[in-house]
Order: sequence, then structure tokens, then C-alpha cells
Amino acid sequence: MRTVDEHLAEILDNVPVLPPLDLALLEAEGAVLAEPVPAPVPLPPFDNSAMDGYAVVAVDVAAASEAEPAVLPVVGDILAGDPGVSAIRPGLTARIMTGAPMPAGADAVIPVEWTDGGAATVRITRPAPPGNYIRRAGEDVLAGQVVAGPGARLGAAQIGMLAAVGRARVLARPKPRVVVLSTGSELREPGSDLAPGEIWDSNSFMLTAAVIEAGGVGHRQPTVGDDPAEVLETLEDLLTRADAIVTSGGVSMGTRDVVKEVLTGVGTVRFHKVRMRPGKPQGFGLLQGVPVFTLPGNPVSAYVSFQVFVRPALRAMQGLEPEPLPTVSAVLAEDVKSPAGLRHYLRGRLSFNRGFYSVAPAEGQGSHQLGSLSAANALIELPEDAEALPAGTHVEVMRMPS
Ligand code: AMP
Ligand code: MG
Repeated sequence: MRTVDEHLAEILDNVPVLPPLDLALLEAEGAVLAEPVPAPVPLPPFDNSAMDGYAVVAVDVAAASEAEPAVLPVVGDILAGDPGVSAIRPGLTARIMTGAPMPAGADAVIPVEWTDGGAATVRITRPAPPGNYIRRAGEDVLAGQVVAGPGARLGAAQIGMLAAVGRARVLARPKPRVVVLSTGSELREPGSDLAPGEIWDSNSFMLTAAVIEAGGVGHRQPTVGDDPAEVLETLEDLLTRADAIVTSGGVSMGTRDVVKEVLTGVGTVRFHKVRMRPGKPQGFGLLQGVPVFTLPGNPVSAYVSFQVFVRPALRAMQGLEPEPLPTVSAVLAEDVKSPAGLRHYLRGRLSFNRGFYSVAPAEGQGSHQLGSLSAANALIELPEDAEALPAGTHVEVMRMPS
């Protein structure tokens, strides 16, 4: 028997960090940057207007009011994309659009809302200080400034930033491609009919979705029966196209525990009993360098095992800190009992009321009870030494991704 922490530590010590690839920008969504990206130019690259309006010399409108507007001849229009060669003299104005380069000589923008919108001459009813509604070159990003560096996960905002500094490609560690394989002769595809003794395969769908939630690319493999040759052949085939493999089922103490049977002693895969509930039977190791996580078959056990062991590992494979699910401290709404010596993960409902979190354990805590898992939003994590916790005790609660 080993502890949860020992098992996780072994996993994290052994998962490889994926090599960075040269990726087109949109292929890099969710990838983790592996290079510093400096801005080749300042952003904005040139002084430009923050509003649709009129470029003026501020002193020309210093006395403008509703009663006595400043009236200026309009010498032209400056549009976004204009090359920025126009200029105005004192006493004149040019219509200017948001993002258009400021003309030489002008030092303020009067928004169109402060004017009568005139095309030949314009009446301006409010004064403006120098610099009004001008976006200065470099006020967002300086030339040479590193806008994103190694370890940055590329979400929408970061992808936008990289495009804004002109990058079409970046060096980044891609999302791990994780193939999920359910084993069990009783399993049928959802959508098909069940014969007596059969159930629909839920784990491979659940775990593939969990991979995606964890920031990986999930591929679901059709289930395989409890046939050693078939399981081994399928796994060998998957090795060529997966950064990691997650299996469910066939790792406990039955007579047909096929995953354990075919992988024992293969590569570095080893099977362990981990001091946890649910999820005691676990296996992990590398097959031709590819991490293989063999999770137990009971759906709740598979889910908890994924969140506790696989999720941090997928982060580590991208060179990220192996953070667990986001955790909050909450007050137990009911008394709970917990087995001594085991880390206990209870399904619960976390709620936020009047400034504090409370959590109520779900009714059904059996490792087969997917119904209560799917109605839960949190996993209550009770330490090994907890045995009886009265209502009101503070406990750590992991939020389930949603
Ligand atoms: P095993 O670990 O293979 O002994 O499976 C333990 C329990 O989980 C059994 O009741 C299985 O029928 C069930 N189970 C295993 N795999 C799946 C799956 N992919 N979907 C739903 N239930 C499963
Ligand atoms: Mg089975």
C-alpha cells in the first residue's frame, strides 16, 4: 500500500515534458509557450486617435462652449490605415477615425459627440486638453518588451497578443494527445441495445471529456473486451499516436483483470494499492516512453483517479506546475465518517452563502454511483487521519470542472 502523495510523486517524477513544436498561431491554442516573444515594434506603433472625431490644435478649442462654439474648417478625412502623412496647421481641423494616425501639428482629438459633425466646417462645443483621446505609440507595449514568455498557457488573450506583435508561428509545448480506452466484456457503445449482463460504456466518454477539461486533446478509443491479446494489441497500436494513454477497468483483484494481466512487468508499468477511497487499485508506468495510467473501472473511482493523478500529470507534461483542481476551504453541512488511514474523496455540493462556503456530502457515495457524481460539483478531500468529522468542521474541497 502507498499513499496518494507517494503515487502522485512517482507519476510526476516520471512523466516526460513534451518537446516544443513550431506551431501556427491557432494550432497553439492551449499550448504552453516555450520561448520569450518580444514585440518587434511598439504598440500602438504610432500615435493614433482613440475616438471618431476631429484632430485639432488644443489651443484652438480652449475657449469653446455650447454658447460660443469654436468653428473650424475641415481640411480632410483621415481613416484607419492611412499612411500618416497628413498634417494640419493651427486654425484647421481634420476629421479622424478611431485608429487613424494623428496628423502632424494636431495635439488633441475632439470626439464627434462634442461637435455638430460638420463635414466642411465643424462647430466644437467643448474644450479639450492637449493629448485628449490620443493613444500614444508604445503606451500598450514597448518595442523589445517580452509580451509572453516560457510557461505561458496560450488562451484567447495571449493568442491575440502574439498576433498583435506580428507572430504567425510560435514555439510551444502542444496539448498532450491522450487516448482513452475502456476495457470490459460487459461494455456496449451508448446508442446500441443491451443484452442481459451488459452496460453502456460511460468511462471512456467521461474520461475523454475530463482530458479536454484538463487542457489535453482527448481521443476516445472504442472499448475492448477482457481479452488479453486484444487489449495488448490495442495498446501497442495506440503508442504510436498518443502522448499518454488512460485505461479504465481490469486492474483490481478479479480473475479477469486483463489490464493488470497484460501490463504487469511491461515497460515500467507497475500496479499498486493506493490508500484512498475511491480508487484503491492503480497502475502507472511508461510504455516505450509513453505514460500509461490504468484507472479502476468503477466510474466514480475512475473520475477521482483522473482528477487526482492524471490531471496534474498532463500539466507537468506541458511544463506547467502540477496544480490540483482549484480548492477552497468549506464548512461541512453534516457529520461525516471517514475510514482511518485512507484519503477519502466524497462527492458533495459546494455552495456559497452569506460570504462563506459550505459543502454537503452527496447521498450515494458508492464508487459505482455516477448519479451522485454527476449531481455533485465538488470533491471533499478528507485527510488520512480524519475519522469522524462533525458538521461545522472546515474541510478542503476541490471544485469539479464545469
Ligand atoms: P473492473 O475494474 O473492470 O473490475 O470494473 C469495476 C466495475 O466498473 C464493474 O462493475 C464494471 O462493470 C464497471 N465498469 C468498468 N468499466 C466501465 C466503463 N467503461 N463504463 C462503465 N462502467 C464500467
Ligand atoms: Mg472489467
